[in-house]
Amino acid sequence: MAGSPDTGLTGCWSVYDETVIKISKSKFVREPEAVLVVCFVWKDIMSDFKAIESIAEKCGFTEYGYVRIDHLKYYPDIRKICEGNTCRNYGSCWACPPAVGTLEECKNRVEQYDNMMLFTKKYETKNSFDIKGMMRGLKDFKKLADSFHEELKPCLSDFMLLSNEGCGRCKECTYPDEPCRFPDLLHHSLEGYGFLVNDLAKEANVKYNNGQNTVTYFGALLFNTEKK
Ligand code: SF4
Repeated sequence: MAGSPDTGLTGCWSVYDETVIKISKSKFVREPEAVLVVCFVWKDIMSDFKAIESIAEKCGFTEYGYVRIDHLKYYPDIRKICEGNTCRNYGSCWACPPAVGTLEECKNRVEQYDNMMLFTKKYETKNSFDIKGMMRGLKDFKKLADSFHEELKPCLSDFMLLSNEGCGRCKECTYPDEPCRFPDLLHHSLEGYGFLVNDLAKEANVKYNNGQNTVTYFGALLFNTEKK
């Protein structure tokens, strides 16, 4: 697996000077208690990462890895591609633009979190024109993202999931007339946030393309490890 707790933790804590240690966005401790507290918090954080990784493995994702929140780029050009609506999801559901808000709003939402785990699932297709096979894969991937969401609930109090493309949960979406029927299970689209998935895959050290006659779907888990 591409995941490594070390990679994920680089954004979680840092030593500012030799006396004050930032463990998370809101926790600061001073020496000499620092060493002891850091050991406990470190152990806690490590166990959160391990628990999340074992859930990702149980769900059957092909690979996972971590992306630093401060490395994320929100490309207006990707948003323009959404607006071109070749995927037919633009303006059709609550998971895609314009319903997800402006890029600035997406960025602010993401920056509520300290960590991003990128996860993938590879599906076999007959050939590069096997649209049915691709759609079958996407449907399965959405189900896996739902299972991941459910399994994460007891482990994380604060998280958000993003996944490739639109929603597709309901036969007919309520957008824009009524609120989403399942707001708690609404996974916004990765592309809608202006992310270049290839960039994310590189940083997370996971494969963007798994070879001929395959399609790979991506999702992202944003989470805070600190106990609320
Ligand atoms: S869950 Fe249903 S109502 Fe909500 S965005 Fe998806 S399709 Fe639309």
